[in-house]
Amino acid sequence: MSTIQYNDVVQAHEKINAHIRRTDIHTSKTLNRLLDAEVYFKCENFQKTGAFKLRGALNALLNFNVLQRQKGVLAFSSGNHAQGIAYAAKILNIPAKILMPKDAPKSKVQATQGYGAEVIFYDRYTENREEIGKRLALEHEMTLIPSYNHPDIIAGQGTAAKELIEDVGQLDAIFVGLGGGGMLSGTLLTAHALLPNCKVYGVEPEAGNDGERSLQAGHIIQIDTPQTIADGAQVTSLGHFTFPIIQKYVADIQTVSDLELQQAMAFFAQRMKMIVEPTGCLGLAGLMKYRSLFKGKRVGVIITGGNIDLERYARLISKSEFI
Ligand SMILES: *Cc1c(COP(=O)(O)O)cnc(C)c1O
Repeated sequence: MSTIQYNDVVQAHEKINAHIRRTDIHTSKTLNRLLDAEVYFKCENFQKTGAFKLRGALNALLNFNVLQRQKGVLAFSSGNHAQGIAYAAKILNIPAKILMPKDAPKSKVQATQGYGAEVIFYDRYTENREEIGKRLALEHEMTLIPSYNHPDIIAGQGTAAKELIEDVGQLDAIFVGLGGGGMLSGTLLTAHALLPNCKVYGVEPEAGNDGERSLQAGHIIQIDTPQTIADGAQVTSLGHFTFPIIQKYVADIQTVSDLELQQAMAFFAQRMKMIVEPTGCLGLAGLMKYRSLFKGKRVGVIITGGNIDLERYARLISKSEFI
């Protein structure tokens, strides 16, 4: 198994830098007062395509050889990875096919097609997307790029934490949303290299606590697709590339409820004027839950994405009291 190192994050950053936005760091005086802490938000909701996934996607495609570039990339995703791959493929002039469920939200299908990718539909209830993906990749000689379990993806995602640490300096803790662990493992490699005493926490939805259970068990635990509003974290297991890094370096994995995510969404809207998708709220929700541990500390929170249909957004924040 290949060992991925912080140096891979540095190289990824050099490669993708010209194509990404160095997203802003935002703060909230209200929150800092409430927590008696200094909290720095890395706003990947303002990244091109609306989520950090572009970082890993670009890094993976920039590492393609000539033949791979010619034949193209294939990905399966109904969410931010699809848009990241489609956008990266477009600017690098690489053909892209994205496999999406027939019932994927129209806005996501249109965004992906808008970047020039060909969308292929499958039935998520009767067909297995991994099988279809593998078959199509073989048939068209395209390279399949998964959304988290890939060294180039992990290295690319680690560049967000690199920018955060370069911009704000010393941090006692960093909170990161956890799905399959691409973002968390990249952040861990970066934090371990730059701030060895900084504790990094992964935060996952309560309904999909496979990460927490895997950490306890000492091996990857597979679950059914979890029912949660955090659609970007509806994965069924960590990956064989991401898990060992998480196991080695993570301070802890925490879980939050959908209600806690909605409260964080409302906080971002009301206090910070930011639209953040439910999955993008995992980091803040985790910090809020364990806030008593971070009094007087400097804490980084990665806001991972902001893509959500307005109707759904309005529904989710309408009844939420914020924190
Ligand atoms: C994909 C995604 C995550 C989870 O990232 P992993 O690398 O799969 O752990 C979190 N937030 C958003 C917005 C995402 O799109």
